[in-house]
Amino acid sequence: MPPRRKAREVAIGPVVIGGNNPIAVQSMTATDTADVEATVEQITALAEAGCELIRVTVDTRKAAAALPEIRRRCPIPLIADIHFNHRLALEAAPYVDKIRINPGNIGSEDNIRAVIARANEFGLPIRVGVNNGSLERDIALKYGAHLKDNILMPPEEGYPAEALVDSALRNIEILEAHGFTRTIISVKSSNVPLMVRAYRLLAAACDYPLHLGVTEAGTLENSNIKSSIGIGALLLDGIGDTLRVSIAARRTEEKVEEIKTGFKILQALGLRRYGVEVVACPTCGREDVGFDTTRIAREIEALTARMSRPVKVSVMGCYVNGPGEAAEADLGVVASGKTARIYRRGELIESMVPFDRVTQRMKELIETFYDPPA
Ligand code: SF4
Repeated sequence: MPPRRKAREVAIGPVVIGGNNPIAVQSMTATDTADVEATVEQITALAEAGCELIRVTVDTRKAAAALPEIRRRCPIPLIADIHFNHRLALEAAPYVDKIRINPGNIGSEDNIRAVIARANEFGLPIRVGVNNGSLERDIALKYGAHLKDNILMPPEEGYPAEALVDSALRNIEILEAHGFTRTIISVKSSNVPLMVRAYRLLAAACDYPLHLGVTEAGTLENSNIKSSIGIGALLLDGIGDTLRVSIAARRTEEKVEEIKTGFKILQALGLRRYGVEVVACPTCGREDVGFDTTRIAREIEALTARMSRPVKVSVMGCYVNGPGEAAEADLGVVASGKTARIYRRGELIESMVPFDRVTQRMKELIETFYDPPA
C-alpha cells in the first residue's frame, strides 16, 4: 500500500483523527434526537460494537434541548449534524465535540462568523459535509444543472467530481477567511466512481483530514458492497482519516452493522483489527469427509461475535493449503483425515482433535489466546 496521506491532526473530544492516528469508525443515530431514551440506547449499542464517534441530527429546538442529557450519558464523542439553521449550531456547541455543517447553506456571513466564534469558544472542529444532492446553486449551475420551475435539476449525466471538490474548497476558504482550520471534510456521493474521484482530487488539493463515506448507499447488502469498494479504494490509496458506512436502517441491530462493516473494511486492509476474524477456505471436493468447514466457521463466528480482542482464526477443510494458511493466523484448525490439527501461529499444538470437538476447542483457545502461559 502507498504511504498514508499526511493530513493535519484534528481533535474531536479525546479522539484525534488525521496524522498517524487510527482511522476512526463512526455512525449516526436514526432516532428522533429529542427522544433522549431511544437516542442514548442506540448510541450505547453502537459504542459497544466499537463506534468511536457518534453523530445526531439537530434539526429542531427540541433536539438541541435534548443534547445536555444525551451528552451526559454518551460514552463517545458526540457530533451535531446541522443544516440551514445556524442558531441550532450555537445552541448545540456547549454539549458536543464537533459540528457538521456546510458554511455554504447557513446563510449570511454574520451567521458563519457566529458559528465559527461559537466553535472557537468550545474548541470544536467543524466538518464540511459536501454532498452532490446539496451543492450550492451557482456551483450546480456551473457544472450543468438547470432550473425548472425554480427547482435545481442536476445534469442528466450527473455532476462531475470537480463540482463536489469546488464546493469543498469554497467552504474551506470561508472557514480559513475567518482563521478557522479545525476542519474535517467529506465529499460523499451515492455514485462510487464519482465519490472516489472526488476524494482523490480533494486529497491532492488540501491537507485537512477526510471523512470517507458512500452516501445513500442503500440497504445492508448494497451498502456493504458499495462502501467496501468506495471506501476501500481510497484507503488503498492511503486516503482517509475517519469513515462511516451508511446503511438504510432505523433499527439498532441494523445500525450496528455500520460499525461492523466499517471495521471489517479496515481489517481486510490490515489497517485496524476488530475482534475475532475468521478466515475459512471456500471448501471443495477435497474437504475431508465429516469435517464441515462452513458450519465450523459459522459456529466460531457466532460464539465469538462479542469478543473484542483481535484474534485471527483460520478454518481449512483439508491438508492441501491448511498448514500454510494456518501459519498466517493466530489460531488455525485444519482437517487432516479423520481428525483435525490445531496450530498456534504456525506451530502445531494439538492433533487428533475429533471433528465434533473442533468448535468448542477453538472457542476455548480463542478465549485464552492472550492469557499468559501457565
Ligand atoms: S483447503 Fe482443501 S477443502 Fe478447502 S478449498 Fe482448499 S483444497 Fe478444498
